[in-house]
Amino acid sequence: MSSPDGDHDAVDETRLLLSFVRDRDVLCPLCGYNLRNLTHARCPECREELALAVSARNLRFGWFLATITPGLFSGIAAGFLLIPMIGTTIASGGSPPWFIVVLDAFGWLSGIFALLLIKYRFAFLAQRLTVQWTWAALAWAVHVAVFAVLVALIFLS
Ligand SMILES: [Zn+2]
Repeated sequence: MSSPDGDHDAVDETRLLLSFVRDRDVLCPLCGYNLRNLTHARCPECREELALAVSARNLRFGWFLATITPGLFSGIAAGFLLIPMIGTTIASGGSPPWFIVVLDAFGWLSGIFALLLIKYRFAFLAQRLTVQWTWAALAWAVHVAVFAVLVALIFLS
């Protein structure tokens, strides 16, 4: 942002920030220092650079977190499951049971799905709450079903 307009915007933003905190008790988001009568766009206590921002009054992350949680957990578990799978393969020369391989692949795919959801979170959060709720319910239903099938296969084998 070296264009004259960019510099102009930065000066304007700083002026707005300083004007906003002039007569208000606003706390530094990092250290909690009171920024009233600030003279530079930087916290005098922790030296963090400050910016004026717009945020939503009622930001609802609940269904988003509920949707990504099983995927993140499965992805991490799939990573850890890979260690004994490789160990078993090296130690015995044979491959692990097919359902363990399928489970591990499911975990990786689920983890990738959760990461994609994090990447496209704004599209998710823009959906109506009923759509978000449906995604969360689907994610949990699929994971509970896969876990139930796995437990059944372990006890049957
Ligand atoms: Zn601070």
